[in-house]
Amino acid sequence: MIDFAVIGSGISGATISNKLNRKYSIKVFEKAKGVGGRSSFKRFKGKIGFDHGLQYLSPRSKEFKSFTNKLVRKRVIKHWKGNHEFLNEKIKRDKKHVKLIGVRGNNDISKHLLKNINCKFQSELSVIKRQKNCWFLKFKDDSSTYAKNLIITAPFPQVKKLASKFVKTKLFKNKVKMNSSLTVLLIMNKTNSNASSFFTNDNILGWVSNENSKKRFKYNKDLWVLQSTYEYGKKHTDNYRNKKKFYTNILINKFKKLSKVKIKKIYFTHIHGWKYSSNSAPLKILSYWDKKIGLGICGDWFGGPRLENGWLSANNLYKKIKQIKLK
Ligand SMILES: Cc1cc2nc3c(=O)[nH]c(=O)nc-3n(C[C@H](O)[C@H](O)[C@H](O)COP(=O)(O)OP(=O)(O)OC[C@H]3O[C@@H](n4cnc5c(N)ncnc54)[C@H](O)[C@@H]3O)c2cc1C
Repeated sequence: MIDFAVIGSGISGATISNKLNRKYSIKVFEKAKGVGGRSSFKRFKGKIGFDHGLQYLSPRSKEFKSFTNKLVRKRVIKHWKGNHEFLNEKIKRDKKHVKLIGVRGNNDISKHLLKNINCKFQSELSVIKRQKNCWFLKFKDDSSTYAKNLIITAPFPQVKKLASKFVKTKLFKNKVKMNSSLTVLLIMNKTNSNASSFFTNDNILGWVSNENSKKRFKYNKDLWVLQSTYEYGKKHTDNYRNKKKFYTNILINKFKKLSKVKIKKIYFTHIHGWKYSSNSAPLKILSYWDKKIGLGICGDWFGGPRLENGWLSANNLYKKIKQIKLK
């Protein structure tokens, strides 16, 4: 029986698995087809693709800065330079934060951390039970497994649904409000835009990224990622599936109007709703660990809205697990 089943291959799952794997047997279960969670990379063809969720890292804490510096040296991530502009305000450049991106895609960090770890994809955990002092895990496809310990790294509402019965503290009494957003991926005619990204203060379109500016590929068409504001996402993420074309056009028209980028021909669009995009109000703890039943929970939502918060949460959980002697 494996020592640890880890649910999720985003930064939190990848970080905790990488640490635990040095000492214990691990298996990662991920409901998607590939690694990365909300930092996934949507491939179009070959190297060409889009950062679908997370756009870039701006390390703030000393520990995360040191971790990302190592990844830059190992060529897992790199600096994203260029023109990061604000629109709708007096145009000013965003020089404030360092911007780091995956060398091939923003799921490169998860890929790097999970490279020697057994991962099972398209495995959505649906039920957990305690049986004979260990965990019985049942998946949506009716497969099942046993594990001595269980770590869940999904967004707050999803963990609550799976594990609230087993958590004795007030963790799930917290009101963790996760923001929602809509993302449109767009392939269009080549332009000479020298923008890398645009921030706006519009109430529909919040942020735009020029994927060609990340210099991962050369292509004779432009790839753009358009992200709605949280305010707009909150209103429309539950119903966008019935009117995909409508919402896609709203975001594209806003982009056209605000950026003045000349759209002559559109070759491809894709729209996705992130129901649990991010959480901006930190909790008082950084992770949860119950050594009696071997249940751990970590994720960005303990600490804030960014990938760094997931990394910090996973490290915090590992410190708690490390202190005890496991059966
Ligand atoms: C549109 C968007 C833009 C963003 N932009 C930025 C940014 O620019 N900078 C930044 O720092 N952060 C950004 N973020 C936030 C960042 O992506 C997250 O903070 C980070 O990726 C969270 O990592 P995580 O591992 O905690 O969670 P996740 O990445 O959500 O990982 C959880 C994993 O668990 C899996 N899972 C869930 N339930 C189950 C189940 N029942 N069974 C099996 N698997 C399951 C999921 O598929 C997922 O892979 C953005 C997020 C979004 C959505």
